Amino acid sequence: MVLPKKHLFDLPDDVIYLDGNSLGALPRGAAERATDVIRKEWGGELIKAWNSADWISLPKRVGDQIATLIGAPAGSVATGDTLSIKVYQALAAGLKLRPDRKVILSDSGNFPTDLYMAQGLIDTIDKGYELRAPAPEDVIASISEEVAVVMLTQVDYRSGRLHDMDDITRRAHDAGAIMIWDLAHSAGAVPVDLTASNADFAVGCTYKYLNGGPGAPAFIYARPDVVGDVQAALAGWMGHDAPFAMELGYRPAMTTERLRVGTPPIVQLSILEQALKVWDGVSMEEVRAASIELSETFISEIEARCPQVTLASPRDASQRGSQVSFAFEHGYAAMQALIDRGVIGDFRAPDIMRFGFTPLYLDKNDVLRACEIMEDVLNGELWRDPKYQVKSRVT
Ligand SMILES: *Cc1c(COP(=O)(O)O)cnc(C)c1O
Repeated sequence: MVLPKKHLFDLPDDVIYLDGNSLGALPRGAAERATDVIRKEWGGELIKAWNSADWISLPKRVGDQIATLIGAPAGSVATGDTLSIKVYQALAAGLKLRPDRKVILSDSGNFPTDLYMAQGLIDTIDKGYELRAPAPEDVIASISEEVAVVMLTQVDYRSGRLHDMDDITRRAHDAGAIMIWDLAHSAGAVPVDLTASNADFAVGCTYKYLNGGPGAPAFIYARPDVVGDVQAALAGWMGHDAPFAMELGYRPAMTTERLRVGTPPIVQLSILEQALKVWDGVSMEEVRAASIELSETFISEIEARCPQVTLASPRDASQRGSQVSFAFEHGYAAMQALIDRGVIGDFRAPDIMRFGFTPLYLDKNDVLRACEIMEDVLNGELWRDPKYQVKSRVT
């Protein structure tokens, strides 16, 4: 197999897209698939499509496709809802599995919504639970027998720093805690072997490296030997063992399906099912090797050309996910100037210019061209133009 697989994506000609870590590119066939689902299945079949187009098994089919990319067995990954909701469900389930403990341990580098959801859950339960969020490098030392659940995002959204999944999971288990991994910046970016890690739960989104499109559904994994003990905090009918029996009482499905909630987003799931086909015959090891090559090229070229910026990601490629961040005081304006010239990355407050590397649709020439443009923007101080100082709502 040869990377990249650019021909499988619909990308504008004049764009070098370095933001697939935030919103993946549009895979070819996805728009046609959505149109078919809307016109033929919904329009033509109406409600019959749940059976005739097999909408009913779509969430599980897509879960099985994702499972192959994260080292999980078929049937262990459920899809639907948003990642924030999946974080809440995994945390609630984890706390129930450790009823004698009151601490959720995360880290201060985690994506804010994960921490907000944890705090919201704690406030709802209102039984003296506590969220601890030490600096990422202090997490290991903070794992203790007080901790019910360790909940970490493997790849830091700002810096790209990678937590050691196997090591931390082992330490959490040694202390008797439940381990939840957020794979938002891992799935489709770095090789993940959930089974080997022995993690209890994992969650992630599909609109980043999995190219499912804006608002694509999230996923949740529960280890097969744990799922039978999981109490679903959001006991929706789609997680029931027999949704259409319409029983008065909740009886959870025996698999990870019990972590589903309500009616699945069929159009969005159909797009995702199509998008996941680009991974056929692709090995995550190959993607990782290509990602490292692109990132290393980017770092060395930018450092040689642009003395104004400081690397804000680990220098050692084995400690990084598939993104590279540079700190620059005028990072927001500089990113706007780059975007204006077709190099799309993004900005994370307070001063991080973030660039994602998606080897399926990026090659070395793209990266070298992006470096030239960044050199022009920084050395020519093109970012000083007033039009680049105006903040948009989404950065
Ligand atoms: C992108 C991301 C999210 C986003 O959550 P949504 O509910 O999909 O908006 C959450 N957590 C992490 C770690 C992320 O990287």
